[in-house]
Amino acid sequence: MSIKTDVVIIGAGPVGLFQVFELGLQGLKAHLIDALPQPGGQCSELYPDKPIFDIPAVPECTGQELVDKLMQQISPFGAELHLEQTVDTLEKRGDDDFRLTTSAGLEFECRAVIIAAGAGSFTPVRVRVGGIDRFEGDQLKYRVRNPDQHAGRDVIILGGGDSALDWAIQLASRARTLTLINRTERLRAAEATVNLFQSLCDEEPERVRMLLGQATGFGERDGRLSELQITLRDEQKSVQTLPVDDLLVFFGLSPKLGPIEDWGLALERKLVTIDLATFESSVPGIYAIGDINTYAGKKKLILSGFHEAAMAAFAIKQRFEPDKKVHLQYTTTSPLMHERLGVDAAGGERAPA
Ligand code: FAD
Repeated sequence: MSIKTDVVIIGAGPVGLFQVFELGLQGLKAHLIDALPQPGGQCSELYPDKPIFDIPAVPECTGQELVDKLMQQISPFGAELHLEQTVDTLEKRGDDDFRLTTSAGLEFECRAVIIAAGAGSFTPVRVRVGGIDRFEGDQLKYRVRNPDQHAGRDVIILGGGDSALDWAIQLASRARTLTLINRTERLRAAEATVNLFQSLCDEEPERVRMLLGQATGFGERDGRLSELQITLRDEQKSVQTLPVDDLLVFFGLSPKLGPIEDWGLALERKLVTIDLATFESSVPGIYAIGDINTYAGKKKLILSGFHEAAMAAFAIKQRFEPDKKVHLQYTTTSPLMHERLGVDAAGGERAPA
């Protein structure tokens, strides 16, 4: 049986979540679908504990705190979340008539589709050392969930970008030893971050250090990953063996657009091109917001995605009601907005459920 709704949002990252809010203000119902087991996209998957400083009027919050706040903000609109499934097919059957199916066998019928799929169903770039995959999830990790889990342990971080350096700095004080391994001397992280890590290495060279090379083998004891072999970038290509409890890999994400590539949308370097006034793609009724879209001057920032969500919601409302003018209404003063938000018009308090 099909689930019928006004709009299906593909991707429950921060931008997809905020889209629920903007559609809700327009009186439109939405369902959200995401491949991950939790909402929040990159924020909850890649940096739940890291602080974000550039959300307007929120001087500082972690990735997870932002997601929690968004979930709270969209709660009046009761959008259903369908997690751990990818949208595999999207078919346009007529004007304002779309059918989507997911990998979990759900089927949706809706009047418009919003693609808020970020980098696609992103997967971290894996470390290529034969047989090491079997330690994944336990000792081999592609994200840090709880920094304290690494306290007192021999931690090796592979990679030389922002995530690798940021985590190296955060874990250096907790780990027994921390070794960052990068292929080259060039670190692709903010200068201040690189300098800070370098100073930590200088302060405690026996405990915190960086090696140039790559992981080429491993050893195990009692079924546990116990050591990592590093082929160094010296002339002899010598091999150094390091003890390891936790191997953290930050080689970046491989952007896998996946099925979205086959939906007949105009793309530019694997990103969906849109009309800047509406955020509609080349297929009428399908919109693209957040990291998945591209236009002149696009900045892949959460705040850009929030703006795009508002624009798309207005455009969809106008598409559904072409003969009516869609008026901009302030949430501060509009009784209609208060009604949709379920707040008391006089005091702004949330009405009891
Ligand atoms: P995403 O967060 O990528 O979410 C997209 C979701 O779509 C994912 O959950 C994915 O599983 C899902 N999806 C994709 N394809 C499918 C499919 N076919 N079916 C079902 N689900 C699908 N930005 C800032 O503004 N400030 C910062 O300080 C900041 N710090 C960052 C730090 C790091 C380490 C990183 C990696 C990024 C940072 N960013 C920051 C960037 C920010 O996280 C992204 O701009 C933002 O997450 C984009 O949101 P989104 O909702 O468009 O996409």
